[in-house]
Amino acid sequence: MVMRRPTRSCVALLAATIAFGVVFALAPPSAAANADPAPPLPFRLHAGAVARDGTSLAVTLSSDFAYQGGAVMVSASDSMSGTVSVLGRTYALVEDSAGGLVGFVGIGAEDPPGLATLSLTLTRSGGAVETASRTLTVRKTQWTVDYIDLPPGVGDLLDPAIVQEEQDRLNAIYAGMSSRQWQTTWRSPLGLPITGAMVTSYFGEQRSFNGGPVGGHHGGTDLGVAAGTPAYTANAGRVVLAEALQVRGNMVIIDHGGGIFSGYAHMESLAVSAGQSVIAGQLVGRVGTTGLSTGPHLHWEMSVAGVLVDGLRWLDGSQGF
Ligand SMILES: [Zn+2]
Repeated sequence: MVMRRPTRSCVALLAATIAFGVVFALAPPSAAANADPAPPLPFRLHAGAVARDGTSLAVTLSSDFAYQGGAVMVSASDSMSGTVSVLGRTYALVEDSAGGLVGFVGIGAEDPPGLATLSLTLTRSGGAVETASRTLTVRKTQWTVDYIDLPPGVGDLLDPAIVQEEQDRLNAIYAGMSSRQWQTTWRSPLGLPITGAMVTSYFGEQRSFNGGPVGGHHGGTDLGVAAGTPAYTANAGRVVLAEALQVRGNMVIIDHGGGIFSGYAHMESLAVSAGQSVIAGQLVGRVGTTGLSTGPHLHWEMSVAGVLVDGLRWLDGSQGF
């Protein structure tokens, strides 16, 4: 038998039943009854907490603050579809396993510190559209600066047209939206706990190439390890790119659904092909120094609906997911 949630009319019936009960209970006691007055009944109908389809809406954030370059997980109960908007960007929420919605909001490296309002628009299971809002505090991240000397020839790849063309291609991929494939636990792309000693360039680091001006933000985390070290998917998903790029070298991008992507660049070899589904922790390639790179390392990046965020924060549990 299929259990149905109470409809609007069921709520009205429930209220009428309670009201009747109150009238009955407050009727004068008969002479045979105890003369003490009856204790007051706990008659409270929390109408404000009852949604129009008869169930309350719960919206939760994994954290009430996020650093620049951070992310927050947003959950909404008992809803079929919805979006969350913050700082001028709108993120789609996707179905979770409990009849609700879940998704991530990314905070960009240049987003302003201070209070930000998350505005949700949700289509509830009963079909009603509801809105909700939550406040998020964006905290400032102190970025480091990296001065990089590129060997002759490698710098030629910094031709702005080449860099832009590749960036445009990645932006188009990162704008994709598919159903949820990620599982709750995210993994290190090296299959080991990531220690500070292995990080050769942090997410968001600002850069100066060959004595040039300081600018930009490093879009990923560089993990310096020996060439040939296996690289693994951070979570389950589908391979949407696996090929040689001019700047990022041999790169794999995995679509985890819900606008979440992970990228693995500069690899010496690739172990997957575009279109293939992968499980969490599956080998995607081996670390190398292809493309615009000064030595063997894995450039690992995470994108939330096109906003690049810090993979180390993503893994360390500090953001509540
Ligand atoms: Zn990098």
